[in-house]
Amino acid sequence: MAASASASLTSSATEEEITLTVKWSGKEYTVRVCGNDSVAELKRSICELTNVLPKRQKLLYPKIGNKLADESVLLSQLPIKSSLKMTMIGTVEDDIIVDQVDSPEIVDDFELGQDEAVDIKDKEVNKQKLRKRIDQFKIELKNPCRPGKKLLVLDIDYTLFDHRSTAENPLELMRPYLHEFLTAVYAEYDIMIWSATSMKWVELKMGQLGVLNNPNYKITALLDHLAMITVQSDSRGIFDCKPLGLIWAKFPEFYSSKNTIMFDDLRRNFVMNPRNGLVIKPFKKAHANRDNDQELVKLTQYLLAIAELDDLSVLDHKNWEFFAEGNAKNHRRT
Ligand SMILES: [Mg+2]
Repeated sequence: MAASASASLTSSATEEEITLTVKWSGKEYTVRVCGNDSVAELKRSICELTNVLPKRQKLLYPKIGNKLADESVLLSQLPIKSSLKMTMIGTVEDDIIVDQVDSPEIVDDFELGQDEAVDIKDKEVNKQKLRKRIDQFKIELKNPCRPGKKLLVLDIDYTLFDHRSTAENPLELMRPYLHEFLTAVYAEYDIMIWSATSMKWVELKMGQLGVLNNPNYKITALLDHLAMITVQSDSRGIFDCKPLGLIWAKFPEFYSSKNTIMFDDLRRNFVMNPRNGLVIKPFKKAHANRDNDQELVKLTQYLLAIAELDDLSVLDHKNWEFFAEGNAKNHRRT
Protein backbone atom coordinates (compact mmCIF):
# COMPACT_ATOMS: atom_id res chain seq x y z
CA MET A 1 0.00 0.00 0.00
CA ALA A 2 2.70 2.43 1.05
CA ALA A 3 4.73 1.65 -2.05
CA SER A 4 1.85 2.23 -4.40
CA ALA A 5 0.84 5.45 -2.66
CA SER A 6 4.33 6.88 -3.04
CA ALA A 7 4.53 5.72 -6.66
CA SER A 8 1.35 7.54 -7.53
CA LEU A 9 2.55 10.64 -5.73
CA THR A 10 5.77 10.64 -7.76
CA SER A 11 3.90 10.14 -10.99
CA SER A 12 1.43 12.93 -10.31
CA ALA A 13 4.31 15.29 -9.56
CA THR A 14 6.06 14.50 -12.83
CA GLU A 15 2.89 14.43 -14.90
CA GLU A 16 1.94 17.86 -13.67
CA GLU A 17 1.52 20.30 -16.52
CA ILE A 18 3.66 23.42 -16.47
CA THR A 19 2.70 26.45 -18.53
CA LEU A 20 5.72 28.52 -19.39
CA THR A 21 6.06 31.86 -21.06
CA VAL A 22 8.96 32.01 -23.47
CA LYS A 23 10.18 35.33 -24.74
CA TRP A 24 11.85 35.35 -28.11
CA SER A 25 12.56 38.09 -30.61
CA GLY A 26 10.26 40.60 -28.91
CA LYS A 27 7.27 38.25 -28.64
CA GLU A 28 5.92 36.00 -25.92
CA TYR A 29 4.88 32.41 -26.50
CA THR A 30 2.99 30.05 -24.23
CA VAL A 31 4.48 26.57 -23.99
CA ARG A 32 2.82 23.71 -22.15
CA VAL A 33 5.08 20.93 -20.90
CA CYS A 34 5.06 18.22 -18.23
CA GLY A 35 7.39 17.58 -15.34
CA ASN A 36 8.60 14.39 -16.96
CA ASP A 37 9.52 16.15 -20.18
CA SER A 38 13.21 16.71 -20.74
CA VAL A 39 14.83 19.97 -21.78
CA ALA A 40 15.06 18.42 -25.27
CA GLU A 41 11.28 18.15 -25.39
CA LEU A 42 10.83 21.66 -24.10
CA LYS A 43 13.04 22.87 -26.95
CA ARG A 44 11.02 20.86 -29.42
CA SER A 45 7.82 22.49 -28.17
CA ILE A 46 9.44 25.91 -28.51
CA CYS A 47 10.51 24.98 -32.04
CA GLU A 48 6.90 24.22 -32.94
CA LEU A 49 6.00 27.80 -32.08
CA THR A 50 9.08 29.68 -33.28
CA ASN A 51 10.67 27.48 -35.98
CA VAL A 52 14.02 27.89 -34.23
CA LEU A 53 15.55 24.40 -34.33
CA PRO A 54 16.29 22.92 -30.89
CA LYS A 55 20.03 22.86 -31.51
CA ARG A 56 19.95 26.61 -32.23
CA GLN A 57 18.15 27.50 -29.00
CA LYS A 58 19.77 28.86 -25.89
CA LEU A 59 17.39 29.06 -22.95
CA LEU A 60 17.78 31.53 -20.12
CA TYR A 61 15.80 31.25 -16.93
CA PRO A 62 16.31 33.02 -13.61
CA LYS A 63 18.37 31.16 -11.02
CA ILE A 64 18.89 27.99 -13.04
CA GLY A 65 22.31 28.86 -14.39
CA ASN A 66 23.38 26.59 -17.21
CA LYS A 67 21.34 23.54 -16.20
CA LEU A 68 19.13 24.12 -19.21
CA ALA A 69 22.15 23.42 -21.42
CA ASP A 70 21.88 19.72 -20.55
CA GLU A 71 19.07 18.46 -22.75
CA SER A 72 18.63 15.23 -20.84
CA VAL A 73 17.59 16.95 -17.60
CA LEU A 74 13.94 16.49 -16.73
CA LEU A 75 11.96 19.63 -16.01
CA SER A 76 10.77 18.14 -12.72
CA GLN A 77 14.40 18.23 -11.59
CA LEU A 78 14.60 22.00 -12.12
CA PRO A 79 12.99 24.74 -10.03
CA ILE A 80 10.72 25.83 -12.88
CA LYS A 81 7.46 27.56 -12.02
CA SER A 82 4.56 28.45 -14.25
CA SER A 83 4.67 32.12 -13.25
CA LEU A 84 8.18 32.86 -14.47
CA LYS A 85 9.30 33.88 -17.91
CA MET A 86 12.03 32.18 -19.85
CA THR A 87 14.03 33.83 -22.59
CA MET A 88 15.14 32.03 -25.71
CA ILE A 89 17.99 33.19 -27.87
CA GLY A 90 18.22 31.65 -31.31
CA THR A 91 17.86 32.24 -34.99
CA VAL A 92 15.64 30.61 -37.57
CA GLU A 93 17.79 28.99 -40.18
CA ASP A 94 17.80 30.62 -43.55
CA ASP A 95 20.50 28.64 -45.24
CA ILE A 96 19.54 25.15 -44.23
CA ILE A 97 21.80 23.47 -46.76
CA VAL A 98 24.87 25.04 -45.18
CA ASP A 99 23.52 24.06 -41.81
CA GLN A 100 23.29 20.40 -42.76
CA VAL A 101 26.92 20.34 -43.79
CA ASP A 102 28.06 22.18 -40.69
CA SER A 103 26.01 20.20 -38.21
CA PRO A 104 27.91 17.87 -35.93
CA GLU A 105 27.91 14.17 -36.76
CA ILE A 106 24.88 12.45 -35.32
CA VAL A 107 25.35 10.36 -32.24
CA ASP A 108 26.50 6.84 -33.04
CA ASP A 109 23.89 4.18 -33.04
CA PHE A 110 23.85 1.65 -30.26
CA GLU A 111 22.37 -1.73 -29.68
CA LEU A 112 20.00 -1.97 -26.77
CA GLY A 113 19.69 -5.33 -25.07
CA GLN A 114 16.54 -7.25 -25.98
CA ASP A 115 15.13 -6.90 -22.47
CA GLU A 116 15.84 -3.24 -22.30
CA ALA A 117 14.28 -2.53 -25.69
CA VAL A 118 11.10 -4.20 -24.46
CA ASP A 119 11.31 -2.22 -21.28
CA ILE A 120 11.54 1.13 -23.08
CA LYS A 121 8.45 0.57 -25.20
CA ASP A 122 6.44 -0.70 -22.24
CA LYS A 123 7.43 2.01 -19.78
CA GLU A 124 4.40 4.04 -18.76
CA VAL A 125 6.32 7.31 -19.01
CA ASN A 126 7.24 6.60 -22.64
CA LYS A 127 3.72 5.49 -23.54
CA GLN A 128 2.48 8.72 -22.05
CA LYS A 129 4.87 10.72 -24.24
CA LEU A 130 3.56 8.91 -27.25
CA ARG A 131 -0.03 9.70 -26.26
CA LYS A 132 0.90 13.34 -25.87
CA ARG A 133 2.53 13.40 -29.31
CA ILE A 134 -0.58 11.74 -30.81
CA ASP A 135 -2.68 14.53 -29.33
CA GLN A 136 -0.38 17.31 -30.51
CA PHE A 137 0.98 16.28 -33.86
CA LYS A 138 -1.03 16.46 -37.05
CA ILE A 139 0.03 14.37 -40.02
CA GLU A 140 -0.83 16.16 -43.24
CA LEU A 141 -1.59 13.76 -46.04
CA LYS A 142 -0.01 14.65 -49.37
CA ASN A 143 -1.97 11.83 -50.97
CA PRO A 144 -4.77 9.65 -49.62
CA CYS A 145 -4.07 6.38 -47.82
CA ARG A 146 -4.98 3.47 -50.10
CA PRO A 147 -7.11 0.65 -48.71
CA GLY A 148 -5.39 -2.73 -48.71
CA LYS A 149 -1.86 -1.34 -49.00
CA LYS A 150 0.88 -1.89 -46.49
CA LEU A 151 2.95 1.01 -45.18
CA LEU A 152 6.65 1.69 -45.75
CA VAL A 153 8.23 4.44 -43.62
CA LEU A 154 11.62 5.72 -44.80
CA ASP A 155 14.35 7.70 -43.11
CA ILE A 156 16.31 10.14 -45.33
CA ASP A 157 19.82 10.76 -44.03
CA TYR A 158 22.14 7.85 -44.87
CA THR A 159 19.07 5.82 -45.91
CA LEU A 160 18.04 7.57 -49.14
CA PHE A 161 20.66 10.29 -49.29
CA ASP A 162 24.24 10.91 -48.20
CA HIS A 163 23.76 14.20 -46.39
CA ARG A 164 27.38 14.48 -45.26
CA SER A 165 29.07 14.57 -48.63
CA THR A 166 29.07 17.63 -50.82
CA ALA A 167 28.23 17.83 -54.48
CA GLU A 168 27.24 20.47 -57.00
CA ASN A 169 24.02 18.61 -57.67
CA PRO A 170 22.15 16.83 -54.84
CA LEU A 171 21.28 14.05 -57.28
CA GLU A 172 24.89 12.92 -57.02
CA LEU A 173 24.26 12.10 -53.35
CA MET A 174 21.03 10.20 -53.89
CA ARG A 175 21.14 6.50 -53.12
CA PRO A 176 21.26 4.55 -56.39
CA TYR A 177 17.97 3.09 -57.67
CA LEU A 178 15.88 5.32 -55.40
CA HIS A 179 13.18 6.04 -57.97
CA GLU A 180 13.14 2.46 -59.26
CA PHE A 181 12.74 1.28 -55.68
CA LEU A 182 9.90 3.68 -54.85
CA THR A 183 8.14 2.93 -58.13
CA ALA A 184 8.27 -0.83 -57.57
CA VAL A 185 7.21 -0.89 -53.93
CA TYR A 186 4.44 1.65 -54.47
CA ALA A 187 2.42 -1.17 -56.02
CA GLU A 188 2.10 -2.77 -52.57
CA TYR A 189 2.95 -0.03 -50.06
CA ASP A 190 1.92 3.46 -49.18
CA ILE A 191 5.09 5.45 -48.59
CA MET A 192 5.83 7.94 -45.81
CA ILE A 193 9.12 9.72 -45.26
CA TRP A 194 10.23 10.51 -41.72
CA SER A 195 13.38 12.46 -41.02
CA ALA A 196 14.83 13.72 -37.76
CA THR A 197 15.42 17.12 -39.38
CA SER A 198 12.97 19.96 -40.02
CA MET A 199 10.04 19.81 -42.45
CA LYS A 200 11.62 22.60 -44.45
CA TRP A 201 14.64 20.43 -45.11
CA VAL A 202 12.60 17.29 -45.78
CA GLU A 203 10.53 19.08 -48.41
CA LEU A 204 13.52 20.78 -49.95
CA LYS A 205 15.57 17.61 -50.17
CA MET A 206 12.78 15.36 -51.43
CA GLY A 207 11.83 18.03 -53.96
CA GLN A 208 15.41 18.28 -55.23
CA LEU A 209 15.62 14.53 -55.64
CA GLY A 210 12.36 14.42 -57.59
CA VAL A 211 10.56 12.28 -55.00
CA LEU A 212 7.65 14.67 -54.56
CA ASN A 213 5.34 14.96 -57.58
CA ASN A 214 6.93 11.93 -59.22
CA PRO A 215 4.73 10.52 -61.99
CA ASN A 216 5.46 6.91 -61.03
CA TYR A 217 4.59 6.90 -57.34
CA LYS A 218 3.01 9.11 -54.70
CA ILE A 219 4.22 9.95 -51.22
CA THR A 220 1.45 9.64 -48.64
CA ALA A 221 2.99 11.92 -45.99
CA LEU A 222 6.14 13.57 -44.70
CA LEU A 223 7.09 13.61 -41.00
CA ASP A 224 9.89 15.50 -39.28
CA HIS A 225 11.56 15.79 -35.89
CA LEU A 226 8.44 17.27 -34.33
CA ALA A 227 6.76 13.86 -34.67
CA MET A 228 9.52 12.16 -32.66
CA ILE A 229 9.53 11.52 -28.93
CA THR A 230 12.33 11.48 -26.41
CA VAL A 231 12.50 8.27 -24.41
CA GLN A 232 14.41 7.28 -21.33
CA SER A 233 16.49 4.15 -21.08
CA ASP A 234 18.37 2.92 -18.04
CA SER A 235 21.66 2.29 -19.80
CA ARG A 236 21.63 4.98 -22.50
CA GLY A 237 19.93 7.91 -20.85
CA ILE A 238 17.58 9.77 -23.11
CA PHE A 239 17.42 9.75 -26.87
CA ASP A 240 14.95 10.52 -29.64
CA CYS A 241 13.05 7.90 -31.60
CA LYS A 242 10.36 7.60 -34.27
CA PRO A 243 7.30 5.92 -32.75
CA LEU A 244 5.17 4.28 -35.44
CA GLY A 245 2.34 4.22 -32.89
CA LEU A 246 1.78 7.86 -33.85
CA ILE A 247 0.91 6.88 -37.43
CA TRP A 248 -1.13 3.87 -36.31
CA ALA A 249 -3.20 6.06 -33.98
CA LYS A 250 -3.87 8.62 -36.72
CA PHE A 251 -4.89 6.12 -39.40
CA PRO A 252 -6.12 3.00 -37.58
CA GLU A 253 -8.28 1.88 -40.47
CA PHE A 254 -5.24 1.70 -42.75
CA TYR A 255 -2.08 0.98 -40.79
CA SER A 256 -1.03 -1.15 -37.83
CA SER A 257 1.93 -3.07 -36.46
CA LYS A 258 0.90 -5.89 -38.79
CA ASN A 259 1.33 -4.07 -42.08
CA THR A 260 4.05 -1.49 -41.40
CA ILE A 261 7.79 -1.65 -41.99
CA MET A 262 10.27 1.15 -41.44
CA PHE A 263 13.80 1.55 -42.83
CA ASP A 264 16.38 3.52 -40.90
CA ASP A 265 20.15 3.35 -40.51
CA LEU A 266 19.76 3.91 -36.75
CA ARG A 267 18.28 1.03 -34.77
CA ARG A 268 17.43 3.23 -31.81
CA ASN A 269 14.77 4.97 -33.89
CA PHE A 270 12.71 1.75 -33.72
CA VAL A 271 12.82 1.36 -29.97
CA MET A 272 9.09 1.93 -29.47
CA ASN A 273 8.30 -0.63 -32.19
CA PRO A 274 11.25 -3.00 -32.53
CA ARG A 275 9.29 -5.59 -34.55
CA ASN A 276 8.67 -3.14 -37.36
CA GLY A 277 12.13 -1.79 -38.07
CA LEU A 278 14.74 -2.84 -40.59
CA VAL A 279 18.23 -1.42 -40.15
CA ILE A 280 19.46 -0.43 -43.58
CA LYS A 281 23.16 -0.29 -44.40
CA PRO A 282 24.03 3.42 -44.31
CA PHE A 283 24.74 5.06 -47.65
CA LYS A 284 27.86 7.14 -47.02
CA LYS A 285 30.68 8.52 -49.17
CA ALA A 286 28.36 8.69 -52.15
CA HIS A 287 31.07 9.50 -54.67
CA ALA A 288 32.98 6.31 -53.87
CA ASN A 289 29.99 4.04 -53.33
CA ARG A 290 27.30 5.06 -55.72
CA ASP A 291 28.46 2.77 -58.51
CA ASN A 292 28.11 -0.37 -56.47
CA ASP A 293 25.45 0.24 -53.81
CA GLN A 294 22.70 -2.33 -54.45
CA GLU A 295 20.78 -2.06 -51.19
CA LEU A 296 17.61 -0.64 -52.66
CA VAL A 297 17.52 -3.29 -55.38
CA LYS A 298 17.77 -6.06 -52.80
CA LEU A 299 15.28 -4.38 -50.49
CA THR A 300 12.79 -4.06 -53.33
CA GLN A 301 12.84 -7.83 -53.66
CA TYR A 302 12.37 -8.25 -49.92
CA LEU A 303 9.46 -5.82 -49.70
CA LEU A 304 7.67 -7.39 -52.64
CA ALA A 305 8.30 -10.90 -51.31
CA ILE A 306 6.81 -10.14 -47.88
CA ALA A 307 3.95 -8.00 -49.20
CA GLU A 308 1.70 -11.05 -49.46
CA LEU A 309 2.01 -11.85 -45.73
CA ASP A 310 -0.84 -10.88 -43.41
CA ASP A 311 1.43 -9.97 -40.53
CA LEU A 312 4.87 -8.43 -41.14
CA SER A 313 5.65 -8.19 -37.45
CA VAL A 314 6.17 -11.96 -37.20
CA LEU A 315 9.29 -11.57 -39.35
CA ASP A 316 12.71 -10.92 -37.95
CA HIS A 317 13.83 -8.16 -40.31
CA LYS A 318 17.42 -8.71 -39.21
CA ASN A 319 17.38 -11.72 -41.53
CA TRP A 320 15.99 -9.86 -44.51
CA GLU A 321 18.84 -10.71 -46.85
CA PHE A 322 18.45 -14.38 -46.09
CA PHE A 323 14.69 -14.21 -46.64
CA ALA A 324 15.06 -12.63 -50.07
CA GLU A 325 17.60 -15.27 -51.06
CA GLY A 326 15.46 -18.14 -49.79
CA ASN A 327 12.47 -16.75 -51.58
CA ALA A 328 14.35 -16.45 -54.86
CA LYS A 329 15.54 -20.07 -54.49
CA ASN A 330 12.00 -21.26 -53.78
CA HIS A 331 10.78 -19.51 -56.87
CA ARG A 332 13.50 -21.09 -58.94
CA ARG A 333 12.59 -24.54 -57.63
CA THR A 334 8.94 -24.25 -58.50
MG1 LIG B 1 19.45 8.26 -41.02
